Amino acid sequence: MVTAKSQDFTTEQLLAILSEDYNSVYLVNIDENSFKVYLLSDTIKEKFGKYFETNPTYDDAIRNYVLSTVVKRQQYEMLQETSRENIIHQLSTKNIFVKDFKVERDGNTFYYRMKAVRLATTDGQFTVVLGFADISFQKQKELEQYAYVDSVTGGHNYNYFKEAVSLNKMPGFILAMDIHSFKIVNKVCGIKTGDITIKGIYRSVQKHLHEQDVIGHVNADQFAIFLSTDDQKYVTEFMNSVTIELLTFSMRMKVPQLIPYFGITKWTAEKKIEMLYSEAKTAKLESKNNPSSNYAYYSEADANKMMEIKKIEDEFEEALKANSFEIWYQKKCNPVTGKMVGAEALVRWKKSDGDFLPPADFIPIYEHNGMIRKLDEYIFRQVCKQQKEWMMQGYQVVPISINVSRASLYYLDIVDIYRNIADEFDITPSFLPIEITESATIDNNEIKDIVNNFRLAGFPLHMDDFGSGYSSLATLNVIHFDTIKLDKTLVDYIGNYGGERLLEHTISLSKELGMHVTAEGVEKEEQVKFLTQLSCDSIQGFYFARPQPAEEFVRNLEVG
Ligand code: C2E
Ligand code: MG
Ligand code: MG
Repeated sequence: MVTAKSQDFTTEQLLAILSEDYNSVYLVNIDENSFKVYLLSDTIKEKFGKYFETNPTYDDAIRNYVLSTVVKRQQYEMLQETSRENIIHQLSTKNIFVKDFKVERDGNTFYYRMKAVRLATTDGQFTVVLGFADISFQKQKELEQYAYVDSVTGGHNYNYFKEAVSLNKMPGFILAMDIHSFKIVNKVCGIKTGDITIKGIYRSVQKHLHEQDVIGHVNADQFAIFLSTDDQKYVTEFMNSVTIELLTFSMRMKVPQLIPYFGITKWTAEKKIEMLYSEAKTAKLESKNNPSSNYAYYSEADANKMMEIKKIEDEFEEALKANSFEIWYQKKCNPVTGKMVGAEALVRWKKSDGDFLPPADFIPIYEHNGMIRKLDEYIFRQVCKQQKEWMMQGYQVVPISINVSRASLYYLDIVDIYRNIADEFDITPSFLPIEITESATIDNNEIKDIVNNFRLAGFPLHMDDFGSGYSSLATLNVIHFDTIKLDKTLVDYIGNYGGERLLEHTISLSKELGMHVTAEGVEKEEQVKFLTQLSCDSIQGFYFARPQPAEEFVRNLEVG
């Protein structure tokens, strides 16, 4: 390698030094446009040996070489870089000029390095020693190296993990690791701190690995880990150590607590690494929702559950097209007169065997993957269409409320879209109340605005499921709902002194705040009686009717 200044060497010395690393070396007189061969690689000798004997100029030789060996689109760049003008330009400020070329030939990629060293000659001529080397092998290694390095952690990535574990022959476990609510770190501390934290997590795990173990950063806060052991106790100890390590690390970093959770599967040579990692991920989901443990082992049952979920996801578009999502209607009645005052649209999935899948079996899946937005909009459109049809047939329609999931409320244009659909079918929004669960409204200002916009656009707002889960009276003060729907869990308190007082006060407070009250899940006569005494406005429940398919429900509507 020429590391010292070229002036320190004689021409002969330089030619010899370059010949150590370069396959072809030439002495080029730039001013005279001539060159002498000092060393030739076997391939160049074979292809150009005879031609060089004819004493071509430097320009011609280079031109000949480039045009006959390099694909067309790379010729221009190579001619430019090797031109005498460029060599003069490059060596006007420095003594050495190195340039790498990527060359495609016969469907393969080669890498060449050119090195030009200016000679300190006494005759005033611009002379250089020019070497060319095939560095394809070296470059390939570099690229491979690069392909295994993770840009965030500086450690190994998932590609490396797969490669390393595929060479394994020993018993082991594959772990998928994730951090609870990592998004909060990014949100609170910024992406930069988030990245540093990921790097720290990688190092923290690494500290507890043994020689045969492997870690790879998959993406965001997800890591793949291979533990070379057949002892589950070792796995448990490893997870405990990492959990403690991360706790200390998060305190040191002053970031929200980093709590890892793991999914684990046993390594076997019979399955591909991707497959095993996906099993570990399935188990990881299981542990995510388990408050009593931060890890879970993969089981067949998990696999079946995941496959069911996947099937339900995969079938969505098809089911939409085939109109397999049917709408059933459950009426809401005035408890005193028993007269129908409205209804709720409830989706059912009609399967090919004629069975109906209840919403609980698919709505949560679609809420999780974002498809619910499309389904909610579809149901809304179908209800508008149905209302229009019944109107055209001469029925007196009633308001039919439609459930809008919390996940649909993240889309700012939802109110405009719904308004346009209602207009398309010429249905007054007051006949299309929107049911939103109370928990959907409390944590996000944008959602509050969207919910309010529904109301401003004329859609009555019903607060669904009040009294179930995380009810907060404070919500009643933030958004004005037209109707509050008391959940079945509250209605079921009837018969219990404390529960009845709670209902009494909830109903009277709601009325004071100007809301209508609908009780849901009413099945018994004594419940109807009690609710009537409290002046509950309407009742929805099996006592009056179960949800009915459209052709059955229509009989409840009056004509004229
Ligand atoms: P929800 O909106 O609270 O609907 C009321 C649920 O209570 C319905 O269950 C209804 O069949 C049930 N129900 C009504 N009266 C009684 C009763 O007296 N006793 C009992 N045990 N149950 C009663 P369903 O149809 O299974 O719907 C469950 C949930 O699925 C709905 O709860 C709603 O949150 C959701 N859902 C239904 N359709 C849609 C939809 O189109 N979009 C969205 N986003 N969610 C929907
Ligand atoms: Mg509802
Ligand atoms: Mg409800």
